[in-house]
Amino acid sequence: LFVDAHLSPGDSVEATPEQFNYLVNVLRLNEGAQILVFNGREGEWLAELSFPSRKKLLIRPREQTRSQPPAPDLQYLFAPLKVGRLDYIVQKAVEMGAGLLQPVMTQHVQGKITNLDRLQANAVEAAEQCGILSIPAVAPPVKLRDLLDGWSSNRRIIFCDEGEESHNPLPLVAGIRETQLALLVGPEGGFSQEERTLLRSLDFVTPIPLGPRILRADTAAVAALAVIQASIGD
Ligand code: SAM
Repeated sequence: LFVDAHLSPGDSVEATPEQFNYLVNVLRLNEGAQILVFNGREGEWLAELSFPSRKKLLIRPREQTRSQPPAPDLQYLFAPLKVGRLDYIVQKAVEMGAGLLQPVMTQHVQGKITNLDRLQANAVEAAEQCGILSIPAVAPPVKLRDLLDGWSSNRRIIFCDEGEESHNPLPLVAGIRETQLALLVGPEGGFSQEERTLLRSLDFVTPIPLGPRILRADTAAVAALAVIQASIGD
């Protein structure tokens, strides 16, 4: 469970109403029950529940069970999709190792980011579910051109481009020397020809195919993240 508080033995953190509901009403835990908690910066802790009153629940860290691993470094650059797919893709990107989720506004974007807090909450939930101890950040949207203009060139952008002749991404991803990577997936309407030409002209961008078929943006993201994960083994 994610607790947004300092964790040390002897301390106690009061459960939020949502955490109270989940631990008491869903998991039916009671006095003395033990759970694993993390705060995204101090590793994982075994904690004990105590109820000073019927309506109050304290989470008491007892001992650290895992130290804080390095945060995942992969950046996931994505054109916003419609809300339902957006929740899904944030969840999948976190599960597949993204450490930063950066919405990118392109010419054909159909979705928009109306609620960053909701996406951030999805990232927290995905982190809890897949057992990572850091919380990937969901950044405010940027325009593609601004993103590229300010890009630090020691990080390579892997650009999913269905216009490639070959269909196999593996040799292209395997050939990347940089350890800092970003994945760029377009919107349901695709990148414009102008955007594709710009991206393919940049020396810090590697276009990759994802097979011979046109994938939905969320399918493409998961497919590309799987290729990257297989290639960097992380
Ligand atoms: N341009 C597509 C079309 O003509 O229908 C629409 C874009 S596709 C739904 C959304 C994004 O997924 C694309 O911008 C691209 O980044 C990625 N994508 C989809 N299929 C792909 C493929 N076969 N190879 C590489 N990227 C792909």
